[in-house]
Amino acid sequence: MTELSAYHARLPYGERVSADPVLGSPFFPFDGEIQVRPLDEPIVPEPPRRGEPGAPPCDQCAEPEKYLVWQDDTWRLYAGFEPIGLPMVAVLVPVEHVTLHMMPPALAASFGVMIQRVALAIGRIDGVGRVHFARYGDGGEHFHTWFFARPLGMMQLRGPMLAVWDDLLPRVPDEEFQANCRTVAEALNAG
Ligand SMILES: [Zn+2]
Repeated sequence: MTELSAYHARLPYGERVSADPVLGSPFFPFDGEIQVRPLDEPIVPEPPRRGEPGAPPCDQCAEPEKYLVWQDDTWRLYAGFEPIGLPMVAVLVPVEHVTLHMMPPALAASFGVMIQRVALAIGRIDGVGRVHFARYGDGGEHFHTWFFARPLGMMQLRGPMLAVWDDLLPRVPDEEFQANCRTVAEALNAG
């Protein structure tokens, strides 16, 4: 893999690196016997993402109403994907099928405003201490940003492992989660 980059050439493919740097960290949710998986070789070109030629259709364009919590002319917010262990995990998606690279400047500018609006709206849910957000883009081509509600006072849930805790914590009851979705939608409608 030396041909990809100097970085790639250094990595120990097929080997297990040590888990020690994260074991014992206050933000790492696991303890006991932990083994890191052997490191896979890179795949280049990368396999197509949903919505790209050769992959299944884009979820948001195929079923725009599924999991929809709120929308305006430009943006949609989705929530309700299983499992649900946090008060809110939501995805902000432009109505138009664009990537970050092809997003028109006006849409890119409104994205900044929407980050603030969605974070404040999710923060209105009872018991939410902070709202994290992240853009990965590895699963689907249609631009999307994840929002995660970190419960108030749960200092162990700080940082990037919050998304893992979402899979681990007891399931939020449907009725409560739907009420949380309404809180977010009402806050966004109120501007
Ligand atoms: Zn799409």
